[in-house]
Amino acid sequence: CRHLVLVLGDQLDAGAAALRDLDPARDRVWMCEAVDESTHVPSHKARILLFLSAMRHFRDALEAEGIRVHYRALDAEADPSLAVGLAEAIRILRPERLILTEPGEHRVLAALQGVAEAGAVPLEIRPDDHFICSRADFDRWAAGRKGLRLEHFYRHLRKREGILMEGPEGAAQPVGGQWNLDQENRKSFGRQGPGMVPEPIGFPPDAVTRGLIPLVERRFANAPGSLERFDWPVTAVQAREALDEFIRNRLAAFGPWQDAMWTGEPYLYHARISAALNLKLLDPRAAIDAANAALEANQAPLASVEGFVRQILGWREYVRGIYWREGPAYLDLNVLEAHRPLPSFYWTGKTDYACLGASIAQVLEQGYGHHIQRLMVTGLFALLIGVEPREVHAWYLAMFVDAVEWVEAPNVIGMSQFADGGLLASKPYVATGQYINRMSNYCRHCRYDPKESVGETACPFTTLYWDFLDRHRDRFANHPRTALQWRNLARMDSERLGAIRRQAAALRDGLATGESARG
Ligand code: FAD
Ligand code: SF4
Repeated sequence: CRHLVLVLGDQLDAGAAALRDLDPARDRVWMCEAVDESTHVPSHKARILLFLSAMRHFRDALEAEGIRVHYRALDAEADPSLAVGLAEAIRILRPERLILTEPGEHRVLAALQGVAEAGAVPLEIRPDDHFICSRADFDRWAAGRKGLRLEHFYRHLRKREGILMEGPEGAAQPVGGQWNLDQENRKSFGRQGPGMVPEPIGFPPDAVTRGLIPLVERRFANAPGSLERFDWPVTAVQAREALDEFIRNRLAAFGPWQDAMWTGEPYLYHARISAALNLKLLDPRAAIDAANAALEANQAPLASVEGFVRQILGWREYVRGIYWREGPAYLDLNVLEAHRPLPSFYWTGKTDYACLGASIAQVLEQGYGHHIQRLMVTGLFALLIGVEPREVHAWYLAMFVDAVEWVEAPNVIGMSQFADGGLLASKPYVATGQYINRMSNYCRHCRYDPKESVGETACPFTTLYWDFLDRHRDRFANHPRTALQWRNLARMDSERLGAIRRQAAALRDGLATGESARG
């Protein structure tokens, strides 16, 4: 063939750069259900099923347009890696040129470049214009800056794109006069709870998905997670329906309660569109435009719309820029020198810490946790005990249906574990169990007490919080952003601090040997 257009499992956009000038008469598309994509780290069964089902739907849609797809299915005789599969396709199809939209992972890019070189076929890599900010744009923005703060990047992009801006060109101001409405967006549900939360729209397995379930159960029998509740969007049409449902029923309450958690309510007012966005079934501009339209129609308040736009135009674009700018070495950063193993209950949910038990059980069931569960429950606990960041990274990459490395790694290594020393977050996100108590009802069902740091019923978050401050005193105590938190530690009497240190050490050792916190 003339061009062999490579479409990876997270590039399922018919308008992608690589597909743009495809000539069905002379070109072919190559897709490959590569076994190494699901096993180089363990992967949740729902994540595997989502990728495979969405890929097959995409292939069917291309073929319906008359495009020929060289598709390597997982249930074929041999299961190749991406590299082996591509080398084989090159041998069979003898393309003059390979065309690829920028992939989302260093490892995949290197593997495909290696195959192209070995086969002596030119590989053309086109910028991924799914993203609003290209890699080159991000690097231009970042060049010469001392700190790469989200807030500065987000404002820059809002101005450049004219999103949520008003007033004459050149002197436009943020709609409502303020850039950041986070202060209005930190509510909890109090004692009365969230009441009736509208159910998000679900997409029960269709024929394609159902056909894949036995394969996933058989081939990945030891993978974590369950397929019983699988109802993720697997096509662009379903992704759009999911977005529309969110905008209609839940966006208005998204802002105020985006940090709140509640037992048995995994989604609350969150959009549940990250997996669809990351597989490129949904365009981020469509999500931003829909939120904007809801604001203009008075169907959602500015705080909710700005909060939502901040996540997509701000955080999502920003972490991608960081991932590519920092390179593969970013994954090995560990400035806090954390070397503990991840407690085994992260893979089972079997622990008597109610917040962790609920958050992990939910991930095993659905492959989903919202931002605060990820950051301030599972992430916070790993940070406080001092788990090796690489292990935390592997767990997040495995367990969430929306996990792809360019977005997962900066969130885990940088934001959650502070392993990059503050490149991404200006200070570590650390808190006692009192934070979780304020933002959820988990502590009401827990045998531990979030106020206590020492003793039989002490909350492990609270004990470990003080111990974390103590262990990292030298690094943070004099830093302007963190000094206040550390000042409280300085006021603690030495007897109490000694007891906390002993309890924290016993807790960490117990977790490493699997003796404590079993449910
Ligand atoms: P909503 O809360 O409704 O937000 C809307 C959208 O904004 C999301 O769909 C997502 O595309 C975007 N968004 C929100 N927060 C972030 C963020 N911090 N970074 C990038 N985009 C964001 N997101 C992933 O897509 N994949 C991951 O593997 C992933 N791993 C994470 C690991 C940790 C430790 C943390 C703290 C966050 C992680 N996030 C990840 C970000 C965020 O938690 C999810 O995007 C969000 O929970 C997805 O659910 P939702 O679609 O209901 O999002
Ligand atoms: Fe989690 Fe501590 Fe609350 Fe228990 S008391 S749910 S361990 S924060």
